[in-house]
Order: sequence, then C-alpha cells, then structure tokens
Amino acid sequence: MMIKDIDKEYVANTYARFPLTLVSGKGSLVYDENGKEYIDLGTGIAVNTFGIGDEEWIGAINAQLGKIQHTSNLYYSEPCANLAKMLCERTGMKKVFFSNSGAEANECAIKAARKYGENTKGEGYTTIITLKNSFHGRTLTTLAATGQDTFHNDFKPLTPGFVYAEANNIEDIKRLCAENKCCAVMFEVVQGEGGVNPLDREYLTELAAFAKEKDILLIADEVQIGNGRSGMLYGYMNYGITPDIVSTAKGLAGGLPIGATLLGEKVKEVYTPGLHGSTFGGNPISCAAAISIISRLDEAMLDGVKKRSKFIFDELSDAEGVKSVSGLGLMIGVETARPASDIISECMERGVLVIKAKNKVRMLPALNITMEQLKIAIDIFKEVCRK
Ligand SMILES: *Cc1c(COP(=O)(O)O)cnc(C)c1O
Repeated sequence: MMIKDIDKEYVANTYARFPLTLVSGKGSLVYDENGKEYIDLGTGIAVNTFGIGDEEWIGAINAQLGKIQHTSNLYYSEPCANLAKMLCERTGMKKVFFSNSGAEANECAIKAARKYGENTKGEGYTTIITLKNSFHGRTLTTLAATGQDTFHNDFKPLTPGFVYAEANNIEDIKRLCAENKCCAVMFEVVQGEGGVNPLDREYLTELAAFAKEKDILLIADEVQIGNGRSGMLYGYMNYGITPDIVSTAKGLAGGLPIGATLLGEKVKEVYTPGLHGSTFGGNPISCAAAISIISRLDEAMLDGVKKRSKFIFDELSDAEGVKSVSGLGLMIGVETARPASDIISECMERGVLVIKAKNKVRMLPALNITMEQLKIAIDIFKEVCRK
C-alpha cells in the first residue's frame, strides 16, 4: 500500500491533505517520496521557524535528549525555568504557563481571564469578547472563542461565555461591554486562518485605551504571528500596545509541540497550585528547542524578516494575476485572480509549497529562507498567477 492509501484507511478523516508525502528536507527545501524537491513557503503552518533540520536547533535538542526527555511538573526542570525567564525578559510579562499547543495556550489564557474577572469585578464577570472571523483553536472552548459559525455548527453545545465583535469596530466592543459582564477581549493582531488580515493600528490603540479604562484584559493570540514572524518578537510589538496575556505556540519550538501563555502584571498571581496543569507542559526537549529558537531572534534576524517581507510585498503588489497582498512580516496572504486552490496545486507541481487561508494563498516561509530560494519561489508563483 502507498502511504496515502494507508493514511486514508487508518487515520481519522479530519484533513483534506494535499496529494504529497513529505519525507525529508534541509532548510527551506523539502523532498517527497520520489525525491522531488520543493521550496517550502508553508513551514508546516508557521511551525518550522528556521526550516528543516537546522543544525543549531538539532544540537540543542540532542544535548537535552542526552540528559532527560521528560520530568513531569512534579519536579523542577532547567529548560522550562530558563525558557520562562527568557520569554519574560524579552516581553516584560511576568510568568509563563507551558502547554503543548495553541488551543491549550488559549485555554489557559481564558481560564486566567475568567478568574481575574471574578476576583476583581465580581461573580459572573467571565464573558470574553472575541472578533468575528478569528481563529483560536479546536477544543470546545477555543472553538467557542473562534468567531466563525462554520466551525461551531456540528459541535453544539459549545462552552458559553463568548460574544463576538466586528473587527476594527471599537463601537462594537463598547456595546458588547455594556451588554455583558466582560473580563477580556481576545484577538489576533493579524487574523491568520481568517485570511491574513492585520487589524488597524488605530483600532488597537483605541481598544487598548478602552480596556485600560474599564479594566478589561487584553489577550493577544500570538499562536501564528508570534515568535519573530511579524518582524518583531511578538506581533503586538508592532502596534505599541501591551497585552495582559499573550498566548503562543506554533513556531515557538521550531517544530516540536509547545504552547505558552504569558501572564502580565494583572494576572500573574491568578494561578495557584492545583488550578491548572499539563502532564507534558514544559517538556524539557520542547523547551530546549524553544530556547534555541528565541535566543536567535535578535535584531539582525528580525531585520532579515522585514527585508524578506518587503521583497515579497514589492514583488507581488503589482504582479499580474494578483488582486491584493495582505499581512505582516512573513505571514502573507495573496488574493489571486484565479482560484487560490488552482494556484496552490500548480505551484506544487512546479516545486513551490504554499498554503491557503480562506480564499487567499498564504505564505509563511522560514524566517531564514535564503534570498535566492525566496526569489526563485516568488518568480514561480508570479508565473503561475500570470497564466
Ligand atoms: C493555529 C492557531 C491556533 C491553534 O493552535 P493548535 O496548536 O492547532 O491548537 C490558535 N490560534 C491561532 C491564531 C492559530 O493560528
């Protein structure tokens, strides 16, 4: 049997996979089972921060594998403590809870916000405003947080306590706050799955001022845009706002499962022993990998992200067959004249991997993709769009 057939027979039918089996890679090049080479602009959905098989990253993982692979949270562990310290020092946040995925990072953020609401405002102040067209995960609670009906329909009843505001409309936030006992607003500074749409700067500024005035927490879901992809360490840093809670995952450990919820001054003490936990959370291998990733996201690396981003925007903005380009840093959505699915499969045929976001083609290249590889990939993409 082919891998594809085994998968179709035995793996739960939740994914509409591309007709491609990836077996190996190096940097931004990946290879299929026939040895065909692709330039990867998808990075496993913004996960492989420095591409495949980065030497330094492998070195950090191997060093930790040679010591201890798992401790549980019954004991202290060096990589977990040091990663938390590093994240706090780089962001000004105060404490970190570790989990294994973006959805879990958001669950922790939601629990913290509810606890804060009841502690400070009183019983029932647990409603969280999220934005229409957002995406926050697949657990029943993060599905409820996700502001898109299509994700809700088959799984009701969902966790109650979420209301949805129109993105970039501060009046809608104010209205929902007046009508509900709210504790937080949760948002992605660039809506990823929703179509790679950055929120307006003015909106975020107004939102931050309103939240401060009303003592409503700001939760930035940085699962996709975080960890250097925006050209800053975290996406919110591009907008001059300071969230109370930051959730992140995807690219944090460069290809190993991890989730992190960064708790700011207001919520740093809401969790006490027994209130939250995770068996694998803070896993030493994932944390060692994340330390190696975060420590390399210095100014030079982030400048490189901005330079690559500018290159893509410049190349595609007026390209034939391209209707619009949106996004921030190396999280880019391209609206194409022809259907995105056709563009994606033709790019694949020609050795370039891109993915989809709503009706757009989404690009999430490795932060250190070589300019040469990027040029080749973008040229092919432009040719495919022009057809
Ligand atoms: C991917 C994503 C999630 C969910 O992350 P998982 O690791 O799949 O649970 C949550 N929020 C945003 C913004 C995401 O892009």
